[in-house]
Amino acid sequence: MALYVMKFGGSSVGDTERMQRVARRVVEKQQEGHRVMVVVSAMGDTTDELIDQAKLLNPNPPLREMDMLMTTGEQISIALLAMAIDALGAKAVSYTGWQAGFRTEAEHGRARITDIKPDRVLKALEEGNIVIVAGFQGMTEDGEITTFGRGGSDTTAVALAAATGADYCEIYTDVDGIYSTDPRIVKNARKLSEISYDEMLELANLGAAVLHPRAVEYAKHNKVRLVVRSSFNYHEGTVVKEEVKMEQGVVVSGIAYDKNVARISLLGVSHVPGVLAKVFGSLAEAKIDVDIIVQSGVTDGKADFSFTVALSDCDKAVKVLEGIRGELPYENVTSKEGLVKVSIVGAGMVSHPGVAAQMFEVISKQGVNIEMVSTSEIKVSCVIDGSKLNEVVTALHTAYGLDAESTAFVGGPKDRR
Ligand code: ADP
Ligand code: ASP
Ligand code: MG
Repeated sequence: MALYVMKFGGSSVGDTERMQRVARRVVEKQQEGHRVMVVVSAMGDTTDELIDQAKLLNPNPPLREMDMLMTTGEQISIALLAMAIDALGAKAVSYTGWQAGFRTEAEHGRARITDIKPDRVLKALEEGNIVIVAGFQGMTEDGEITTFGRGGSDTTAVALAAATGADYCEIYTDVDGIYSTDPRIVKNARKLSEISYDEMLELANLGAAVLHPRAVEYAKHNKVRLVVRSSFNYHEGTVVKEEVKMEQGVVVSGIAYDKNVARISLLGVSHVPGVLAKVFGSLAEAKIDVDIIVQSGVTDGKADFSFTVALSDCDKAVKVLEGIRGELPYENVTSKEGLVKVSIVGAGMVSHPGVAAQMFEVISKQGVNIEMVSTSEIKVSCVIDGSKLNEVVTALHTAYGLDAESTAFVGGPKDRR
């Protein structure tokens, strides 16, 4: 008898029929003799719709109230799933994140988990229940409701598995597992049977939506046995683990993209000590993460520099920079949207020169300019115009020998992407 966490994402519980399918699947697991905890996301596009609704009333809604609103999506799912399981004659009980003991930092919209006290969950399990926990939510010490950031239900699942000593954490989604790239963009993306925590963390941080980055971090630190698989079939999924066999000659193992990118340029900035510290210090104070930074050469004591932030932070970042204009003379600040960051990832890159050069060449053959570049030991990222994203990712996938012979399984639409 093993202890399982089974997590189902939004598209897996998108309507009544899918909710019933999930109910049958978790009851089956219990009938096989296992103890089962379930984490669910909001149904279908509910979270996006709640955000749209909020923005109709207020383009800059207070973050606290956004968390109050967004957590309702998951609360609908947990209650409905408990009812569907009850209808099958099994025992189930649903808990919000805070009822399940998730304590977090006081950081609305992107809170980290500080502590989990799963006593109530464990007691309900002992009583023979299938225990259902609402994804991506917790509560601060002061009793304020928080969320973990978009896609954060994966983190709820992994953290719950770690806190309860679960034997398995299974992430059920709308594709068969983790692929060499997004199978919605590249039809013959290759399904991986296993991937290391480090490579998956890199891919997730670079935009691969299939797992929330913090979920991978949590799994790595707590050695959680993590599997990503489909809720639409019984195919074997992808195992995320410490060590994986390195295939001979594989240099790039995955390609990720991130559409949540904007570039900000600060033009004609006086080239004096402390300028960068002031700019990035002010952005950090406003809790804006900066990614790639590029500074141009200095002419007449002035320099230009550009950096990227999340698209969702772009307006806020421009306001911050306008706010420090008096202390930091510069000529102009501009921003550019409609960009994407495309990244190649692979542990094998370390020992292979010329990987970045090949990437630049493939992108240029698509007639696309590279706006910014950043590299590390196991990745190269290029910021490009978003209009040719699919072509670029597909061409890179072929160039690095990643194409599979068969077409990937994709279960159901993803209208918002
Ligand atoms: P869920 O609602 O189940 O959490 P997500 O949309 O968050 O689902 O994550 C699954 C999606 O991740 C897939 O539909 C796919 O489009 C996308 N994706 C991006 N990169 C990858 C990848 N490398 N492997 C598999 N899926 C990926
Ligand atoms: N419902 C939340 C979102 O759409 C959390 C999740 O699905 O993981 O981001
Ligand atoms: Mg997700």
